Amino acid sequence: MYFRVAFLVAILAIVNCEYVSYNNYKVYKVKPETDKEVEILYDAEKEQGYLFWDEGFRRGRDVRIMVAPEKQHELVKYFSERGMTAELMLLDFERSAEVQRARPVTVTRNQNVRNYAWEFYQTLDEIYEWMDAMAEDYPNVAEVVTIGTTEENRPIKGLVIDFKKSENPVYGFIEGGLHAREWISPAMSTWIIKEFLTSTDPGVRTMAEDIVWHIFPVTNPDGYVYSFTDDRMWRKNRNKAHFTSCSQWNLPDDASNGVDLNRNFGFLWNTIGASLNPCAQTFAGASGFSEKESIAISNHINSLQQSGTVLYYLSYHSFTQLLLIPYSHVSGAGILEADNYGDLFEIGIMGMDKLTALHNTTYTVGTSADILYPVSGSGFDWAKGGAHIPLVFLFELRDLGEYGFLLPPEQIIPNNEETMDGMVEMHRVARSLGYHRSSAGSIVNSMLLLIVSVVAALRLK
Ligand SMILES: [Zn+2]
Repeated sequence: MYFRVAFLVAILAIVNCEYVSYNNYKVYKVKPETDKEVEILYDAEKEQGYLFWDEGFRRGRDVRIMVAPEKQHELVKYFSERGMTAELMLLDFERSAEVQRARPVTVTRNQNVRNYAWEFYQTLDEIYEWMDAMAEDYPNVAEVVTIGTTEENRPIKGLVIDFKKSENPVYGFIEGGLHAREWISPAMSTWIIKEFLTSTDPGVRTMAEDIVWHIFPVTNPDGYVYSFTDDRMWRKNRNKAHFTSCSQWNLPDDASNGVDLNRNFGFLWNTIGASLNPCAQTFAGASGFSEKESIAISNHINSLQQSGTVLYYLSYHSFTQLLLIPYSHVSGAGILEADNYGDLFEIGIMGMDKLTALHNTTYTVGTSADILYPVSGSGFDWAKGGAHIPLVFLFELRDLGEYGFLLPPEQIIPNNEETMDGMVEMHRVARSLGYHRSSAGSIVNSMLLLIVSVVAALRLK
């Protein structure tokens, strides 16, 4: 009996250790031009078992599809029979993934984390060690906080940066790495920490010191680790409570071992652009806030609101170079549902102009439903609609799909530099619109403006 158990354990261990190989997988690009072609894509997603890099489809927008070598011919045929073209985009997924995992020869495993130079993508342990080092190096300014633990018992760690120690703090929350495979997001978040602590640029200094920043580079630690150790394309967390067979969708059963955290927040949960199928990339979970990570974030925001004002909620994802404004389910005239949409749009447009000025990288600004696809249950929509935070944005960082999730390491620094320029400009515009003190400050400004106009009107009489 003992041997049988031991044998089983050994087999399970082998199964668990298997790194998903995407050898010779290719990525194709398809652009639907009509509603009928959009439907064809949804059918393909349901039935063909292809790995889609995008979670929703719309006319005129590229869709990236990853396929195993034995299915490549079939995919091209599937679309050509329906009058569509599947254009080859990435020749060898695994080779690009290797490039992304590679480290410069000068970097050894035991290097001092303080020398981190954004030349490669860091593991979770390295990011956490680096944050500990920053807290040690800036003891009066920076402090490591843990807001919760995951299903696999990893801490969700972040760094608080507080220069002013004000009695009426104005907070900013930075949510990085909510989707595991979007590695540029944690690399962006750690860059923001570095800039806030060390930059001498006046704009960066103002932004760093106006706000008490709570920066969480990896809000989905289990998923992030899994995307390094097991499956480079992993997106969700690793909650295994909904494990089921995914064979009817031609997917491995492991696809059901996770919830999409950016569909799990308790604001309009699972109303659009989300799924109740555990095998789906956009599985919304058992209910709003069913997951430890989304609970930890929302509890933390709520606790900050007890001691001060939360002015910013900034979320970092990849890819497609967009700056999203809440709410993600509204389009057309519905965009005005966010009370200060006009301000958010102005801040966003001016910020992205500045971002473009550095390396000519272009961003589109708008609601998800308008420029991407409708979504519900995201962290940043909850930040606006549930927590009523004034300045809420979601960045979809580089690139436009050439490498997608496999953004080469040499693009980390240019991506971070330009995004930082954009953020500094956004803060400058937000200040000029009266947001920099607190949301109460902007109400006072509006009241003053009202009194001045009433007085002026009375004088005219
Ligand atoms: Zn994402």
